[in-house]
Amino acid sequence: MFFSRKLPKFKYNENPVGNGIIVKESGKCPVCGKKTDYVYKGPFYSAEEAEDICPWCIADGSAAKKFNGEFQDYDSCEEVDNEDYTDELVRRTPGYCGWQKEQWLSHCGDYCSFVGNVGWKELEMMGLVQELREDLEKYGLNETGRREHLVKGGSLQGYLFKCVVCGKHRLAVDSNLEFTGLPDANTSTPQTGYAGGFRLENFFDAPVENPTWEQVEKHIKNMMEVGKEHVLLSLKEPHKGIRFIQAVSVDDGYDVQLGIEKNGGTNLVSRVCSTQELFELFSKFYNYADVDGAERFTPVEISRKTYTGGEGKPPIWIQPIIETGKMYDLDFFHFTDMLDWSKQGNDEAVLDPLVSFLSTYGDNVIFAFEDKMTELLYALDTYDIAKHLIEDWGYISSDGFLYARCMALVNGKSYYTAILKGKKKLSKDMEFESLLYVPRNAWCRLHHERDDNYPHKTELSYETFSNKKGWENTPRDIGG
Ligand SMILES: [Zn+2]
Ligand SMILES: [Zn+2]
Repeated sequence: MFFSRKLPKFKYNENPVGNGIIVKESGKCPVCGKKTDYVYKGPFYSAEEAEDICPWCIADGSAAKKFNGEFQDYDSCEEVDNEDYTDELVRRTPGYCGWQKEQWLSHCGDYCSFVGNVGWKELEMMGLVQELREDLEKYGLNETGRREHLVKGGSLQGYLFKCVVCGKHRLAVDSNLEFTGLPDANTSTPQTGYAGGFRLENFFDAPVENPTWEQVEKHIKNMMEVGKEHVLLSLKEPHKGIRFIQAVSVDDGYDVQLGIEKNGGTNLVSRVCSTQELFELFSKFYNYADVDGAERFTPVEISRKTYTGGEGKPPIWIQPIIETGKMYDLDFFHFTDMLDWSKQGNDEAVLDPLVSFLSTYGDNVIFAFEDKMTELLYALDTYDIAKHLIEDWGYISSDGFLYARCMALVNGKSYYTAILKGKKKLSKDMEFESLLYVPRNAWCRLHHERDDNYPHKTELSYETFSNKKGWENTPRDIGG
């Protein structure tokens, strides 16, 4: 038997039980180890998986601390300039469950409190339509004929928030992949001259139907400025086989891809282009009805090979790496997604799926992996990123800093970017030295060789202090 405790209150999440984020269910909390009659079912971002966390370990911060995890992604929270508030939201507040990455809204200089999932019907019943006018407008939901698509639990869903200071409500909206736009053309406002309906979206925003070119342009610029990684413009009906165009930011520009429907599947035709070219390509695609022809895309098709999938072939995204011996940042994080964290504590076992995968596709892939890993570690080799570790340690440990940087590479791209931009700090208690030996181990496995015969030399070095520019502003007494 155990006593039922009073559930903790959360400043930024009013009703986690009512919203099904905390569920009445027996479990054993992985943090305090106690039996609990309430368990958490919302998002938790950590290297190690943690299920059935109890609400009390969320509220006192021990869950976040134990797993070095977060309930919210900083990158998808609206800005609030108060570290204590951010800490409470990110590390001591249950999240909520959206279709895509959950956004957290703010008002009056503080984060809002999450109220619940809503559709248009709920908003009308609560009499909030007028109050939410601005937010609704942002998602194009202020027009008759569109708003009915906003349904609680539906493909297009609202997330209601309330300001903890002034009580004003705010709304976030997102959609799942099944939401492909408005079924009835009469309710939308098609652009004259365009054959199909467009929709514009990226990873974080809800789709915009039939966006004007100005909106598309604004979106692309926004993507560049705030570091959004992906923009997608898709057609309701394929035109000359083209279904969509999308751009993903890569380190040397944008990887622009055309989705062409063929034999029931979608083939990607892509190439990397500059900012200027990206604008031109999007504008051509957007105006295709004017030029009436996919031949406008010829430059895309001839400038880079089309890779196709199929039985016995490597995955499409691996094929250019095999051919060119180069990979993008995004590819690298595809690889690190393969780590098996259920084996945590045994680095070799955690890394095994990755080593095994790399050794399947040959030297080019292995060396490209090492080059990219080195480059990403090199970028983190700066005094600014090391500063708080040096303060903690009381000195600078070159190896310690290198191994801590490795940890930033194995938690996904948004984690890495947050560390790089100084939005998150490296932990001195977490390190992942074993990552460094992945390329060698994969090569040895492939060739049945000893690792002193490993032939590849990277251009950059990941060793601490290699990035001269990163250590330029080091105070004198630290040396280095
Ligand atoms: Zn607990
Ligand atoms: Zn307010």
